[in-house]
Amino acid sequence: MTFKELNLIPSIIDALEDENYIEPTAIQAKAIPEVLKGHDVLASAQTGTGKTAAFAIPILQHLTETSHRNSKGKRKVTTLVVTPTRELAIQISDSFTTYGRYTNIKNTVIYGGVNQTPQKEALRRGVDVLVATPGRLLDLMGQGYISLNDIRYFVLDEADRMLDMGFIPDVKRIIAKLPQKRQSLFFSAT
Ligand code: AMP
Repeated sequence: MTFKELNLIPSIIDALEDENYIEPTAIQAKAIPEVLKGHDVLASAQTGTGKTAAFAIPILQHLTETSHRNSKGKRKVTTLVVTPTRELAIQISDSFTTYGRYTNIKNTVIYGGVNQTPQKEALRRGVDVLVATPGRLLDLMGQGYISLNDIRYFVLDEADRMLDMGFIPDVKRIIAKLPQKRQSLFFSAT
């Protein structure tokens, strides 16, 4: 199995070649076609199995094919990735940047424990993909910096750790604000 056989677009194939990825991992071979078909996915995958690319690649491909801007030309947040820790959030954001290097898709990452101002400025400039930890996401939503009205893709990463860390009430509050019509991708190690 090659990435080309997964029907990925050249701009993404080129980025994967830069990373020296020869073939998809098991989770990528299974999840990428399902996500591209528009299906919801519930997958059991540990960190280190390539699960970040399993959701980032098909989302980047979809977003490249359909641009989402408001009437002023500003990007709408159409993808939300929620993950329990700052470290994971940064890794996921870096992965979107790497795999999306030759696309026109922008991402940003928000997490707690740091100054909010740069995060607010990035949101004001506009992004397609938002990677967030739950507390800071709810905080900036409450302040009016983030609307989830345009979300098409919702990814919950490390769902089991969310449970362990007591984030379930926060995640429920986030899900309540998402549009009904969306694709949901849940990843859990167990
Ligand atoms: P993850 O499970 O998403 O944390 O990914 C674990 C590591 O595997 C990361 O360092 C990725 O860069 C790498 N990786 C992901 N997919 C592939 C692939 N298809 N071939 C080689 N390395 C990969």
